[in-house]
Parts: sequence; C-alpha cells; structure tokens
Amino acid sequence: MVKAYGYGLGPFGVSKLVENNAVDYLGVANILEGVELRKAGITLPIMIMKPELESFDLIIEYQLSPVIFSFHSFQALLKALKKYPTKLETYNINIKIDTGMHRLGFSPEEVPELIKQLKKHTNIKIESVFSHLAASDQPEHDEFTHFQIQLFEKLSGEIAQSTPYKFDKHILNSNGALRFTHAQYDMVRIGIGLYGFVSDPKDAKHIKNVAVLKTKIAQLKTIPKGDSVGYGRRGLAKKETLIATVPIGYADGISRRIGNGNWQVKLNGKFAPTIGSVCMDMLMIDVTGIDCKEDDEAFIFYDQASTKQLSELLQTIPYEILSSISPRVKRLFLSK
Ligand SMILES: *Cc1c(COP(=O)(O)O)cnc(C)c1O
Repeated sequence: MVKAYGYGLGPFGVSKLVENNAVDYLGVANILEGVELRKAGITLPIMIMKPELESFDLIIEYQLSPVIFSFHSFQALLKALKKYPTKLETYNINIKIDTGMHRLGFSPEEVPELIKQLKKHTNIKIESVFSHLAASDQPEHDEFTHFQIQLFEKLSGEIAQSTPYKFDKHILNSNGALRFTHAQYDMVRIGIGLYGFVSDPKDAKHIKNVAVLKTKIAQLKTIPKGDSVGYGRRGLAKKETLIATVPIGYADGISRRIGNGNWQVKLNGKFAPTIGSVCMDMLMIDVTGIDCKEDDEAFIFYDQASTKQLSELLQTIPYEILSSISPRVKRLFLSK
C-alpha cells in the first residue's frame, strides 16, 4: 500500500524498490495517486481502492485496476467502458465486500445480485475479491476478526462458484498478515508494516526503522533572562537562554501542540525542548547547555519509539504522524 504519498514518506522510491522485490501489486486510495505512479514509470498493477466515479476514463487510460465496491460504482465503470472502449477482450476489476468494517464494499445481502450482474457482463473479469478487517491489531476483538474472515470465506466462495475462472482473494493488512496467518490467501496488503510499524512488540523487534524527520538549525541566539520567544510572547526565558530556530513549522505538518515545551527535538545526541509557539515555517528550541552550531541537524522524530511517542502526545497514531507531513518537506529515499 503506497497510498497517501506512500504513508507520507514518498511513494516513488518505495514503489520502485518493491517492484524489484517480488511484489505483485501496489495499492493507492484514489486515481490521481495511481496516475502519479504511472507518470513516474511504475509498471506494476496498481489497485485503486476508491476510484472517483467521474474519472474512470483515467483508470482506463493509465491501466489502473479499479476496486468496485457498490452497484453505483459498477454502473460508472460500465458507462466508462462504453465511452472509452479498450482493446482488451475482458476488463479486470477487484470486488470489495463489506464483512463488518462498514466503510466501503458490497454488503453480504448484495452479493447474490452482484453475482447476477457479473454474469450479464462477461467482458468484466474479476481479478480479485477482497475485504478489510476492522480490528486486526486488537486481540480483544479477535473473535470479531475471525467472524469477518469466515464471512469473507463464505461470500468469496459463492462468487467463485459462479465464475468459470480463478481469482485472487485477500483480506489482511499489516497486522492482520502477522496475526492471522491462516487467512493470507493469495495476497496481503501491507501498509504501515512496510514503513516500520507493527502492533505486536514481539514482531516489532524484527522491524527496522525506516523514517526520520530532520531539519537543520537556521540560527542560534542567546537571549537574556526575562525576554520572550515567538508569537504571543508565549516562550519565556527564565534565565539567559540559548535559542535555536529550526525551519520546520505547522505548515510542514508539525502540530502546533508540540510547542511550548511539549516536545523535545533531538540534536547532537541531546534533547532540546520547544520554546514558544510553533510558527508556520519555523519553531524554536531551547538548546542551553547543548554543544551545537548553526547548520547542525535536528530531529523531530528519529525512530519508531519517538514517532510513537509523538503520536501519543498528539492523541493519534503513527499513521497520521507520517501521512500528515506536508508536500513541501523534501523526501530523501535512501536505499542500501
Ligand atoms: C490502508 C489499507 C491497507 C493497509 O493497512 P495497514 O494497516 O497500513 O497495513 C490495507 N487495505 C486497505 C483496504 C487499506 O485501505
């Protein structure tokens, strides 16, 4: 899964890397994400989880692989195929079934009608049937997860009986793939695990960190006791204080809630608390007593633990920390 700009880390490096490492499919949320990957030269099949119905022509033009999750989306595809006929004899789709997540997908009651409609349109071929788990990382909901898997087994089986050919089945995301190995079927949809995070600490031990967010000290200044720092004068120097300004702010996806001492930036192995409020493009840290100079690197997060801790401070999850880093932050993809 390389949606949301590759979970915020940049989709192109990781897509090229997995393309060369036995991955069969990429997955993104919307059509433009898929188009961007095609323009970057990615040739793997790309599944579009929620195609915009008004842009099905782009799906056809860029040979993307649509998910059909409702009768409405099925009709939109048929219409687009009429308007933009392909040279292909059959057109491949992926069917999403709602087994209890209640987000997208055909409900179990809709499956018989879906089978009927698919029989009518023999030019449409099912490439895969899949579903999504609601709580793959939460042992307290394992009973529900098993129920979802069983329901998926039943419904995908009914569809399989109605088709003269075979299709792939998949239901597991990262934590599902680790925790429900019996349900890996033909594919698994690995997202957050690829970017360094899994829920079970036993598994986490084997997963390396892949992302750091760093900037550099733009300016150092010593301010006297009693002076203030930043907007609203919210940072107060209780004594003579060495301030470092680092050029990363809320417009880079750094929450203002990390200001005023709520987070510590790591530099030269030491920790410097924020002082004053986070600005749009910059924030200030108190580096008093830390050996540092202008242009030294400063890390907002630097490993899984610090990313997790930041997410907890902001009452969210690492997914949101990574994916909300804004486009103007330069992504550097390093591979060994
Ligand atoms: C994002 C997504 C995934 C990946 O989930 P992770 O928890 O990041 O592994 C899998 N399937 C679907 C349908 C998704 O939207």
